Amino acid sequence: MPPRLPYTREEFQAHRDAVRAVERREGRLLVVASVGLGFAQLALLAWADAHLAHPARLRLEGGVFIGYLVLVAVLLWRFQTRIRAVRPTCPACGAMLEGVSERIAIASGRCDACGGQVIA
Ligand SMILES: [Zn+2]
Repeated sequence: MPPRLPYTREEFQAHRDAVRAVERREGRLLVVASVGLGFAQLALLAWADAHLAHPARLRLEGGVFIGYLVLVAVLLWRFQTRIRAVRPTCPACGAMLEGVSERIAIASGRCDACGGQVIA
């Protein structure tokens, strides 16, 4: 990967703001979907207990639960992928700058993995 130019402070901050926006938007979707569908499953279980015979109830509940797990896994994957797409990376080595690495880059302007210039 050829080295890129270091970020300006404004460009770096724009990436941080984009990460926060994705975390807020996608995190809200993840919480609403997982909690809302979790409660919907409880209602379905109560309904199935009252209206379905044992084998049919198990098939329905198992299928719905597997579908719920797949949906939550897809939403988690989407959450991580979208954050990775906007998170700043080191122009020299390509390391993702998150957590402590991000704070070190802000304070020193350098990558904690390779020492390269991150912020001009
Ligand atoms: Zn680096």
